[in-house]
Amino acid sequence: MCTARFTHINETFDCGYCGHRVIPHQHGSCRNHCPSCLYSRHLDINPGDRSSDCGGLMPAVKAIIKQMDQVTLIHRCNQCGIEKSNRSAPDDDFEKILEIMRHSN
Ligand SMILES: [Zn+2]
Ligand SMILES: [Zn+2]
Repeated sequence: MCTARFTHINETFDCGYCGHRVIPHQHGSCRNHCPSCLYSRHLDINPGDRSSDCGGLMPAVKAIIKQMDQVTLIHRCNQCGIEKSNRSAPDDDFEKILEIMRHSN
């Protein structure tokens, strides 16, 4: 579950990398990256606050398996280099996640 105090980040957005229309999760969990290319965007200082003015694209650079059905993705900002960890979503492209796993370690 999303632990962010701010809940209004579940919103539709167009992926800044591949243009995929990203729709909110049905179950109210955080949607912070594109399920198709796994790119995120540097918009937050704290999760959901949208108060960063960086706006850089954040490719997923690492994928860490926590449990069978739970993967943590590490996103790194192309612009400022900050790294953030995010939980994968149920509809994330699992092939992409595996690809990142092969390239990280
Ligand atoms: Zn995308
Ligand atoms: Zn940034």
